[in-house]
Amino acid sequence: MATDYDSPRKTDDDLSEDSLQELQARRSDKSSGSIDIDETDLAESLELPGADLSNEELSLRVIPRQADEFTCSRCFLVHHRSQLASEKNGQQVCRECAA
Ligand SMILES: [Zn+2]
Repeated sequence: MATDYDSPRKTDDDLSEDSLQELQARRSDKSSGSIDIDETDLAESLELPGADLSNEELSLRVIPRQADEFTCSRCFLVHHRSQLASEKNGQQVCRECAA
């Protein structure tokens, strides 16, 4: 009974210990190499995209639509003219919205 109870427990512990050791080995492999540098790089670059994103968003909105594109008056998305379903009083509607 005792051995029956013990043996599966041992294998479980062995398994988890093995995987833990593997994980730790992998972690130490990475951290000894570049993780410390990567984390500081990430922390620094994380702030920059936040500021850059608003700029990109702004420039995206500022960019004038192409001559063969139109802005749907319902979803306000820019579509290619081939997606133009109808135009009433200058209100252009894309196929998706007209469907
Ligand atoms: Zn639309």
